[in-house]
Amino acid sequence: MQRENMRFSEKNIQPAALAVLKTLESAGFEAWLVGGCVRDLLLGLQPHDWDVTTNALPEEVMSVFPGHSIPTGLQHGTVSVRALGETIEVTTYRVDGAYFDHRHPSGVTFTRSLSEDLRRRDLTVNAIAMDARGKRFDPFEGERDLTAGVLRCVEDPVRRYREDALRIMRTLRFASRLGFEVEGRTAAAIHSEKELLGNIAAERIREEWFRLLSGAHFAPVMREYTDVFGVFCPEMLPMVGFRQNNPHHIYDVFEHCLHAAEAVRPPTAILRLTMLLHDVGKPLCYTEDAQGVGHFYAHAEIGAEMAGRIAQRLKCSNEEIELLTCLVKNHDMLIPNTRKGLRRALSRFGEERLRELIAVKRADDLAQNHAVHDYQSYFDEVERLLGELLEEEVCFSLKQLAVDGRDLLKAGIPQGPQVGEALAYLFNEVLEERVINEREALLTALKKSRYDLQKRP
Ligand code: ATP
Ligand code: MG
Repeated sequence: MQRENMRFSEKNIQPAALAVLKTLESAGFEAWLVGGCVRDLLLGLQPHDWDVTTNALPEEVMSVFPGHSIPTGLQHGTVSVRALGETIEVTTYRVDGAYFDHRHPSGVTFTRSLSEDLRRRDLTVNAIAMDARGKRFDPFEGERDLTAGVLRCVEDPVRRYREDALRIMRTLRFASRLGFEVEGRTAAAIHSEKELLGNIAAERIREEWFRLLSGAHFAPVMREYTDVFGVFCPEMLPMVGFRQNNPHHIYDVFEHCLHAAEAVRPPTAILRLTMLLHDVGKPLCYTEDAQGVGHFYAHAEIGAEMAGRIAQRLKCSNEEIELLTCLVKNHDMLIPNTRKGLRRALSRFGEERLRELIAVKRADDLAQNHAVHDYQSYFDEVERLLGELLEEEVCFSLKQLAVDGRDLLKAGIPQGPQVGEALAYLFNEVLEERVINEREALLTALKKSRYDLQKRP
């Protein structure tokens, strides 16, 4: 990919970061922006954090910003400097010690050489330094790679991934976010060193995977590096190439999931993950009928269990696990297009979850054979009706019922389980649209019902 417009000016640098650079320089030190902020600035993207690197030792940085600096990560040489209401991380040039666990250096040593500091960084595009005037120091030709749209490890990729295997996920995350090509030797090293991801904490993998899934180019990355994702999500692998033998489908299970993940809206990481895993149960559930047509009975339930286990292993939050399993479990459910049916669906799922479920079903449908069916207009109709019901503020939860337990006690229902039963009865009458959700109407309905105490023995 060719990139132009690598122009930028001092005014693109955040004022706080610029102030820190200039103050360090005035005190006689070298000071450079480095890492993601330089990469993003040169790409014309908005940097979200500003990292400064300097030859000043941490205590020297502290003395340049007395009262405005906190030694946040002294063992790594990092001082947080407050400037113009922002916090800028200032780190002393350093080299990493030997790596013994494929993740953390055994120690760090400070150096007076900027090149040495840049050499420890993962990718050439993350190893460009830029000073307050926009001058670049770029010994690994990161800018050339940025222009060409290439991700390349600084020096030997195998060694770099062996030092810290999380870099594998970082590289793929940038490929997904930026749409860059991974350079050949770097790509080969990702495949050959992938098992080292087994040494990385699950939450770090999840964090990178989710960021990767938010990227515009996640699908080609997942397709090209499926083996890598298989290291921490082996359940995905049997889907690859699994033929569906069903007229509804034009893709194998994995391709179908990828297409569905691309189609889902909003395109959040958790919904994309849901689509990626929504058919994870299929390979375990395959049967063929007498005509040779493939079926996957119970794949949604089995898939939900599998997805739940995957999410647990990756230390997803309880909310994420609940959402993922609920959506996978119900992805094949028919969403009704009638008022009563939708009110029931609303009472079961609530508005937010029901909308998510519709989004999942739309995406699932978009990734199937549209010569055979197209349910998009059906979901348009469902969503229109849903909008109408919500606009009317219809009652779809017990909380919204116009009477509560106290009202029923006052109306003569005896204390005890009958109160709950009566409430459930009235709620059902309202959902079925036999009674309107108004106090008087409900109490009248109650009187007419078997809960009417007068008629009780
Ligand atoms: P972003 O902040 O957009 O996620 P980034 O590249 O800035 O991306 P940070 O975690 O902020 O990521 O790290 C800042 C810089 O530190 C990187 O650009 C890179 O130079 C270096 N770096 C971060 N993590 C690693 C790592 N695991 N191995 C080598 N260098 C790293
Ligand atoms: Mg950053």
